[in-house]
Amino acid sequence: MRPDLLNPLFAEVEALKGVGPGIAKALARLDLGRLIDLAYHLPTGTIDRVRAPFASQSLLGRIVVLDVTPVETQSGAGRAPLRIYARDGNDNRLTLTFFNNPTWARKQLPHGQLRTVVGKLDAWGDEWQMVHPEVLEPAEADKIALREPVYGLTEGVSNKRMRELVLAALERLPELPEWVEPSLLEREYWPAWHAALHETHSEALATLPRKRLAYDEIFANQLALMLLRQVAQRKRGRPLQGDGRLSRQLRLPYRLTGSQQRVIGEIRGDMAQERPMLRLLQGDVGSGKTLVALLAMLEAVEAGAQAAMLAPTEILARQHFTTLQRQCEAIGVRIAILTGREKGRARESILMGLADGSVDILVGTHAIFQQHVAYQRLGLIVIDEQHRFGVSQRLLLSEKAERPPHLLAMTATPIPRTLTLTHYGEMDVSRIDEMPPGRTPIETLVISDAKLADVMNGLGRHLSNGGQAYWVCPLVEESETIDAAAAEERAATLRARFGAERVGLVHGRMKGPEKDGVMTSFGSGELGVLVATTVIEVGVDVPNATLIIVEGAERFGLAQLHQLRGRVGRGAGASRCILLRGQALTETGRARLALMRATNDGFRIAEEDLRLRGPGEILGTRQSGDQGFRVASPEDVAELAPVAQADARLLLDRDGGLSSARGQAARLCLYLFERDSAVGLLRSG
Ligand code: ADP
Ligand code: MG
Repeated sequence: MRPDLLNPLFAEVEALKGVGPGIAKALARLDLGRLIDLAYHLPTGTIDRVRAPFASQSLLGRIVVLDVTPVETQSGAGRAPLRIYARDGNDNRLTLTFFNNPTWARKQLPHGQLRTVVGKLDAWGDEWQMVHPEVLEPAEADKIALREPVYGLTEGVSNKRMRELVLAALERLPELPEWVEPSLLEREYWPAWHAALHETHSEALATLPRKRLAYDEIFANQLALMLLRQVAQRKRGRPLQGDGRLSRQLRLPYRLTGSQQRVIGEIRGDMAQERPMLRLLQGDVGSGKTLVALLAMLEAVEAGAQAAMLAPTEILARQHFTTLQRQCEAIGVRIAILTGREKGRARESILMGLADGSVDILVGTHAIFQQHVAYQRLGLIVIDEQHRFGVSQRLLLSEKAERPPHLLAMTATPIPRTLTLTHYGEMDVSRIDEMPPGRTPIETLVISDAKLADVMNGLGRHLSNGGQAYWVCPLVEESETIDAAAAEERAATLRARFGAERVGLVHGRMKGPEKDGVMTSFGSGELGVLVATTVIEVGVDVPNATLIIVEGAERFGLAQLHQLRGRVGRGAGASRCILLRGQALTETGRARLALMRATNDGFRIAEEDLRLRGPGEILGTRQSGDQGFRVASPEDVAELAPVAQADARLLLDRDGGLSSARGQAARLCLYLFERDSAVGLLRSG
């Protein structure tokens, strides 16, 4: 049913000349599997390079083109990076650091020969440093473009290559009929879709074409939401009303907070209806959402249905399972876990239990919704930590569910009020707005990384007092390998200082069981410090860990920092969060970190973050990705969603079957962005 016009867009990247399985695999790491993905892989900015005769303070943090002479090589022992020392035109000493490809680096940088290096100039102590510079023969240096669009990259794909791929994909884009309301197009001076993509790739900062592309996404999203709501209203679910026989038996060491009581009341009210529940539960990190989820699931089980809980990561799924298992088994509720790791016999027996109804509650990763997983009587789905509505949408439309289950989505991402409506337009919202009693607020400090030594000493004191701590390393590159190497280096310094047996490391490249092992040792107190690369482990709960150190804090989004900070402050002890910042900080960067110091209120942080990010500042792919859009930033959503909403409503009022010329064009737009659900939406519509 997908219009043929769009077929070329959904061709695999391997359809491009010169793209083999190797590059395709690398691109897949960035979710760039099809030509459309490449076309929408917009530049995140422009590189401005400076040609300079020698390193100097004023060039710090900039991309510099320097002629240097390598003089000495220090090979990295074990996993330590390779360092090549060189002299610039002013006889300054410059360290060139390579986390990978040491052989290549040595060959490119022979001692005593002039070479041109291109890279970001950093200072480490009183030395100049470049990490992973490009290296050229001085004769080639003239060819370096001083201004160039930059793309999110991954190992094995250079910026130059990425640009070629993107341009090749653009060549194949068809012209599409216009779906934007003509008067809007005129008023905003927006180019047509095809032109807008081309223009955005040739001038990264061009605002009009980018706005148009953002609008397209938001419009498709609004249209999908409206169609979805229509479908949902037509489908009838199963009313579930428990009798309290299970929840009454729960032995809780504490009383529910007023907020918890209120939201569980709202949830029970919904579940008792025939209309399927579509509810979003918002509550800051540590506010006690898990218990609310458990009570909702018990309600379903009391009413004779099964419940499933979806967690975003393996670790979280296991942690939920452990917590819930203790409580469930005490009251005779049968619970199981299903992730990619349950295999063979164990898996078979869980699948059978689900099908014959002997499993009441299933916890797991997305594996719990794979095709061959059949439930006897699934009545409630809980989705933990989701901020993309795509999942719930797909579940709701899943053709298996004749009577759609009730759905409860939980998130700690404090989406600003202005955005809640547009992101979760189809959902009712419950909010937990108080913390369980007995918590001491977390103290937040912002410290320059020049004072790393003091921070290390502080960590030492914390550990010798029996405390535990997290040490978070930032995502520096789009490449997990490089990030992992940086984290490994940090872990190595901490191990040298505090003993190898006291320091654990988890990063995105590790396998499930290995990660779980480290987490378990940290949870049991065997490890004093846990070094981690990212926010992968949102939700991890170790009450004795009362210190968190975030390195390169300015590189994180505020919502991420807030989530990270929520790892501590989970027990009764006073907790502390240290944000280590780099030395070259922008005005906005400073303000953002100051805000983190000033408040612990996730909602306030989200609102202010939106305000602080001026419209001129282009978001990195990661941040806009968090919002579930490829192009549209939170500001775009705030500005354009009401327009798109009105436009979509008008269109559907006039042409509910989307059969007019503009309706047909709108279908194309829907396919472009909501492809996975569009087919279902349009079929049932
Ligand atoms: P989150 O909302 O981040 O998922 P959790 O559900 O993990 O929060 O709860 C955080 C901690 O608070 C857990 O250790 C949990 O046992 C505890 N907790 C939950 N509800 C209460 C309550 N009403 N009183 C005291 N502690 C609670
Ligand atoms: Mg949680």
